[in-house]
Amino acid sequence: MTQKIAVLPGDGIGAEIIEQAVRVLKSLNLPLEIEHAPVGGTAYDLHGHPLPPATLKLAQESNAVLFGAVGDWKYDKLPREHRPEQAILGLRKALGLFANFRPAILYPELANASSLKPEVVSGLDILILRELTGDIYFGSPRGVRQAPDGPFAGSREGFDTMRYAEPEIRRIAHLGFQAAQKRQRRLCSVDKANVLETSQLWRDIVTEIGKEYPDIALSHMYVDNAAMQLVRAPRDFDVIVTGNLFGDILSDEASMLTGSIGMLPSASLNASGQGLYEPSHGSAPDIAGKGVANPLATILSAAMMLRYSLNQPAQADRIEQAVRKVLQQGLRTADIFEAGMTKVGTSAMGDAVLKALA
Ligand code: NAD
Repeated sequence: MTQKIAVLPGDGIGAEIIEQAVRVLKSLNLPLEIEHAPVGGTAYDLHGHPLPPATLKLAQESNAVLFGAVGDWKYDKLPREHRPEQAILGLRKALGLFANFRPAILYPELANASSLKPEVVSGLDILILRELTGDIYFGSPRGVRQAPDGPFAGSREGFDTMRYAEPEIRRIAHLGFQAAQKRQRRLCSVDKANVLETSQLWRDIVTEIGKEYPDIALSHMYVDNAAMQLVRAPRDFDVIVTGNLFGDILSDEASMLTGSIGMLPSASLNASGQGLYEPSHGSAPDIAGKGVANPLATILSAAMMLRYSLNQPAQADRIEQAVRKVLQQGLRTADIFEAGMTKVGTSAMGDAVLKALA
């Protein structure tokens, strides 16, 4: 059965890196229908909105969305609802993408790119699963008001509401256990249950669901300790599941352990397996149009798409192995270059992956 993919290149380096990922996908000869649409600042320039109705409709009708990146300084003065980044929020909301998977893998060939000692990080392979639609980012009430009481009564105070409903915790926890089943069978749930009521509920529910997965070793960790352990002994982790706020911070911390933002894919899924796949980095306007951007994070995002939304795990493995092979061959884009290696541009890196796949 033909599966439909919406390809949204976006701004900056988006078009350059997406082109390489699409070449890789086409080379697999799968029954895929690939359709492009504008998003972000590019879409604003063309249609007056970062997520035009036609782009949203295409995304909704597709099995998966392959997304480049959005944003450019030139749009910073637009009203918030017209800024490129609103496109991602709009897609997350419209598609109900509540589960964000961010692997942090350090290929042995890139061990020197990390700011940590190679012996601490070499071979690192963590998966962070972040809940994406709840928590303090979306809870209400929120706002800025005059403090009604307390020692600062009368002065301005900002407030937000941390909130998780039981079904939201349940669905992300199940995904965490299921992800661990496909890996090393260890799940660490990160919260702040010693201080926060929301976190205590989170911990209670994750513990209860853990009884349905006796094959998984479940542990709980406070977020402050998790931040510490990620730089002390990151290889002790397999899968981490956590809420929106803690996941936001920890997934960026984990990505930096690998030292190379151009290598990190991500996936955001909804309850029916439909997903949005994008590199973890932004649109890199500083290098856009120069043909030097690293396309591997986008190519690896396409691999995640094959695994999680298109049910083609063997093809996903093939792409990941091809990426390993080009690194073993010593090919490097500028962001991961080190002495003794061969520096290549965006399309030459795409060529090398295609050759490794053939
Ligand atoms: P960025 O990730 O775009 O760039 C940070 C640094 O990393 C830059 O020096 C850039 O050249 C480099 N870099 C990023 N991706 C690279 C790649 N594939 N190959 C080689 N080098 C790469 O972050 P930024 O500079 O803070 O933001 C630029 C724009 O991107 C902003 O408008 C921001 O809002 C947007 N942004 C978008 C997303 C997204 O689309 N999901 C995410 C983050 C930032």
